[in-house]
Amino acid sequence: MKDIVRNCRLCKEPMESSLFMMCPTCLKDSEQIRNFIRKNPLASLEDISQSTNVCIDKIEYMVSLGLNRKGEYEPEMN
Ligand SMILES: [Zn+2]
Repeated sequence: MKDIVRNCRLCKEPMESSLFMMCPTCLKDSEQIRNFIRKNPLASLEDISQSTNVCIDKIEYMVSLGLNRKGEYEPEMN
């Protein structure tokens, strides 16, 4: 049996051990959101959601974790 070492920090799905805090899906979502916010710094959550097809709750959670700015490629420190 394979060890599942952690859960994705965003969607909480179990994922295999990885450098990242998020599963590949959430990494891709966060990358999209980050790019969008960089180009549209004043965009609302609704705008971001419509443009990236990521649900608002998820975006809000990403923003609250600061993942829209930086850090998603850094290993978790704990
Ligand atoms: Zn995830």
